[in-house]
Amino acid sequence: MTRSTTAPAEPRRAEVVLDRIESVTVSSVVLPLSTAVKDAKVLTGRQRALTEVTFLFAEVRTEAGLEGLGLSYALRAGRAAQFAHAREIAPDLIGEDPSDIDRLWTKLVWAGASVGRSGAATQAVAAFDTALWDLKAKRAGLPLAKLLGAHRDSVPCYNTSGGYLHAPIEQVVENAGRSLAAGMGGVKMKVGQPDSAEDLRRLRTVREHLGDDVPLMVDANQQWDRTTAMRVGRALEEFGLVWIEEPLDASDAEGHAQLARALDTAVATGEMLTSVAEFGEFLRLGAVDVLQPDAPRVGGITPYLKIAALAEHAHLQMAPHFVMELHVHLAAAYPSESWVEHFDWLHPLFDERLEISGGRMHVPARAGLGITLSEQARAWTVDSVRVDAPR
Ligand SMILES: [Mg+2]
Repeated sequence: MTRSTTAPAEPRRAEVVLDRIESVTVSSVVLPLSTAVKDAKVLTGRQRALTEVTFLFAEVRTEAGLEGLGLSYALRAGRAAQFAHAREIAPDLIGEDPSDIDRLWTKLVWAGASVGRSGAATQAVAAFDTALWDLKAKRAGLPLAKLLGAHRDSVPCYNTSGGYLHAPIEQVVENAGRSLAAGMGGVKMKVGQPDSAEDLRRLRTVREHLGDDVPLMVDANQQWDRTTAMRVGRALEEFGLVWIEEPLDASDAEGHAQLARALDTAVATGEMLTSVAEFGEFLRLGAVDVLQPDAPRVGGITPYLKIAALAEHAHLQMAPHFVMELHVHLAAAYPSESWVEHFDWLHPLFDERLEISGGRMHVPARAGLGITLSEQARAWTVDSVRVDAPR
């Protein structure tokens, strides 16, 4: 037996670089929408039409020169509260190691604990949290999905923005055709009008036009009571829907549980829930088939991942709400296929576009979230504050 005379190669060791947060910038950005958007909440008089989406962006910079970009958002009201809260807690990040995300999330939430552990306060934390995840993935040179551990490199996607109630049905049909032609895998329609017969008429028109094979979802935006949800839910069974979304008030876990047990069609909800604890109640009651958390609304990626772990343990489907630029990564890292919803609203904010083909949205091959703020986003900035390390 001969023995090699050359010494075995030393295993390569990555150099450990500990870093510290040097500055944090928070910005408030108002994105105007080209059309006033109406869902069932507007038709029932509960909310005014949506004319803009407001964003809280956080830019975190470290001593080593790394940068992370994170975001949170609000619809109608909440912009000023999120920005004010973020501005107050931002100094708590200065000098911290950006890698210790869970610890920093906890620190920031405790800083504002007297105003609650859900809602606007934790949504302000979400902007920092997503920035820290973006930064960590950039440090690793990986898309966020890969840093988390991806199950796939693309996720099924459906269009939402074409199916609102302000659009006449001919327009909804045309929008659906355009979405499918653009490579999306399904379409969602808004329902929940005061006259549910009109909902069914619109749905029948779209189903007949698209055929039975196109994945179709409906979203009632919480506008049915328990009796109506059961009655309309049964009438919807014949349409072979992927899911019925927000059939009931978002806090009615027991009502959702009854509906989920009674219907063959999957019941989806979760976009209005703002903490892991609120999701815990729905899971405990078996109240939902498809969980729809929204990372900015629940306080960031850190709590989102805890909800995803609970959902996996309960063998539930996930279909994250809104902000596809962020959720494409989180959906790719969930064990079972998760639909991501396509809105074209946010395009002007970023320099990059997500690639969509074959019914799927592709995880960008860029480090971090893979988004950078556009000049237009800078132009729409209405408030900005930078917090630096003391010199
Ligand atoms: Mg919805």
